[in-house]
Amino acid sequence: MAQTAVLEGVQGKSNLSFVLNKPFDVSFEEKPLPAPPGPYDVILAINYTGICGSDVHYWVHGAIGSFVLKAPMVLGHESAGTVVSLGSAVKSLKLGDKVALEPGTPCRHCEPCLSGHYNLCNEMRFAATPPFDGTLAGFYLAPEDFCYKLPEHVSLQEGALIEPLAVAVHIVKQAAITPGQSVVVMGAGPVGLLCCAVAKCYGASKIVSVDIQPSRLEFAASYTSTHTFMPARVSAEENAANLIKECGLGEGADAVIDASGAEPSIQTSIHVVRRGGHYVQGGMGKSDITFPIMAFCAKEITARGSFRYGSGDYKLAVELVATGKIDVKALITGTVKFEEAEEAFKAVKEGKGIKVLIAGPNEK
Ligand SMILES: [Zn+2]
Ligand SMILES: [Zn+2]
Repeated sequence: MAQTAVLEGVQGKSNLSFVLNKPFDVSFEEKPLPAPPGPYDVILAINYTGICGSDVHYWVHGAIGSFVLKAPMVLGHESAGTVVSLGSAVKSLKLGDKVALEPGTPCRHCEPCLSGHYNLCNEMRFAATPPFDGTLAGFYLAPEDFCYKLPEHVSLQEGALIEPLAVAVHIVKQAAITPGQSVVVMGAGPVGLLCCAVAKCYGASKIVSVDIQPSRLEFAASYTSTHTFMPARVSAEENAANLIKECGLGEGADAVIDASGAEPSIQTSIHVVRRGGHYVQGGMGKSDITFPIMAFCAKEITARGSFRYGSGDYKLAVELVATGKIDVKALITGTVKFEEAEEAFKAVKEGKGIKVLIAGPNEK
């Protein structure tokens, strides 16, 4: 009986999907409705999806590193949805619950999974990473424990921002920031801005945003950064020296986060970190770069990569929004109808706005 009642939430609704066929070639397709969920799965009606730099990268290039688009794929992975169908063993969710969706399902059996680093799972099935379909669709099937219930006062639009916030939470954890420390964040796009906000929650007292776009720095200053810096067309050492001086960082920053992936930013970062400080690579860009390895070695810098998010990151991201410690609403520059997805991708590619949301096809 439950199953019949459940499928009522799905039947007769649209599963219109935004499909990437090849670079710059997208189409809207009415896909079959999802099969009934397995015992521990739920079906979500997707309400809102944010456009991520990685979605735009696939749209433009058809690949990110070793992930190459070989067959048409539904785009999108930053989503919030409403539970419309429940597997028989689901206990933590009920029909109608609003959730933030963690869009990658690991195997749960390998060494990284069992040691709590499931983001490093080799068998990860991640939305809109070839060959797996993404969430820009009417419905999406997900495991119960990768759906995070949003409190009543948190909107579904805010729920779509939990994904980039979880990315920032993971990066800031890698940076090991403690109260009173200084942090420099390279890049003031959504993830860079959210890294600043999370660093503040971890107690950073000096937070410097670095970007080459004045409008982004202006926004960063109004958001959570205490200082901003625009690099000049000079050497990385010179930019680093100017940044340290202008922002009063003394010997250098306790932690530097790169959320840009740009080679000059990475080089400047290494010269900005203090002796014994931390460096985290969050942004993705060229696969090989010239790296100031002597400065890195002589200062005994601890450097870490950061990839997506792992145990506890989504939970903390929801908590930071629910308790009002981080305002993600401020980053939402607009919401477009599902049918306008392609125009929205174009706008994001041109650098318009901070975070643009696409409403689900059943959203009226
Ligand atoms: Zn993303
Ligand atoms: Zn695994």
